[in-house]
Amino acid sequence: MTEKKSHYGTSTQSVWAAEEGPFPYGAAVMPIVSAATFAYPDFDTWQKVASGQASGHIYSRNSNPTVAVLEAKMAVLDCTEAAIAFSTGMAAISSTLFALLSPGERVVSIKDSYGGTNVLFEEFLPRFKISVTLCDTTDHERIEAEIARGCQLLYLETPTNPTLKVVDIERLAQAAHRVGAIVVTDNTFATPINQKPAVLGSDLIVYSATKFLAGHSDVMGGIVSGRANLLKKIHHFREIAGASLHADAAYAILRGMKTLALRMQRHNANALAIAQHLKHHAKIDSVFYPGLVSHPGHLIAARQMSGFGGVLSFTPTGGFTAVRRLLDGLQLAQRAAHLGGVATTAGPPQVTSHVELTTEERARAGIPENLIRYSAGIEDAEDLIADLDQAIGGRDRAI
Ligand SMILES: *Cc1c(COP(=O)(O)O)cnc(C)c1O
Repeated sequence: MTEKKSHYGTSTQSVWAAEEGPFPYGAAVMPIVSAATFAYPDFDTWQKVASGQASGHIYSRNSNPTVAVLEAKMAVLDCTEAAIAFSTGMAAISSTLFALLSPGERVVSIKDSYGGTNVLFEEFLPRFKISVTLCDTTDHERIEAEIARGCQLLYLETPTNPTLKVVDIERLAQAAHRVGAIVVTDNTFATPINQKPAVLGSDLIVYSATKFLAGHSDVMGGIVSGRANLLKKIHHFREIAGASLHADAAYAILRGMKTLALRMQRHNANALAIAQHLKHHAKIDSVFYPGLVSHPGHLIAARQMSGFGGVLSFTPTGGFTAVRRLLDGLQLAQRAAHLGGVATTAGPPQVTSHVELTTEERARAGIPENLIRYSAGIEDAEDLIADLDQAIGGRDRAI
């Protein structure tokens, strides 16, 4: 992406960044370059590209023109030096950790990271003699104390999945940089529209592009963006470990991203309206949404986010029976392990974000069994609220 576009707002960037063209054949959009490999007219030209003396592509596991446009676009939206794409969000996260960490090193993170990330921390990194200390997510003093004991990497996620806790990125990034640690932030819930971790001091930002970035529940992908020197190592790992993104998927994510800013405005507005409505509902015990003034992380969120996101969670009164009845009663929500799509999705953590964890592990992570995570889509807020009301009421379906 060129410097000249960087002063544009995020809606303009969503449409134009890295997609100014011109594209091959005069195409109005970057075509899907579905080539596994790239052929050269002669050895000398080929060798110049292979050795990095000329720009071009050699093999799509290493780089691909359609994927490169997505990568450039993400760097612009994130205000970072560069970005690289992966086949899934977990591929982006695991590759980042395995590319940067070595045996004997230490990671400090939070208890409320995404379920899959939590398994990397509890199961896989320790197998490679990388120690991980998981702190209470909102206990900033404790996290700072653990960082000060020495670590190579601080891994954050905010707002968290599924209880929407908020972590102060700027404060903890400063603590991490004092001990020379790299800061990685999972920005999947916020997206670059609502939050810019790089501006707050995060060295790397990771995403599941499967969620809000793509936005249409029809493609998987992952992104890491941030400092170029770190991304070089992660890119090298991707070339070898091989979790590259296919050009078809890059195209679908790029198309989705043209409406990212527009969609996020609606996701933000819908989730806030629903959270405010449920907060006063007699049959709802608690509502977790950082946009509520009563949310313990609201002040931090108001400082570091420009919108509070499309995901909220809540606990209906009446235990898991009520959860089952409410979920089955929803007509405008897909019961699915997913979030961030244009269609509303809802589900409890034991079949969604934390399916990999046992009941005991979820309890230890402070996730109530009667929690419903609700990802507000871009439907009309009144319709979603009416649908929730009828499902909470537990009346028989009208149809
Ligand atoms: C879904 C998700 C991931 C994993 O992404 P996949 O694309 O499913 O591999 C990581 N972090 C968060 C916060 C997520 O919601």
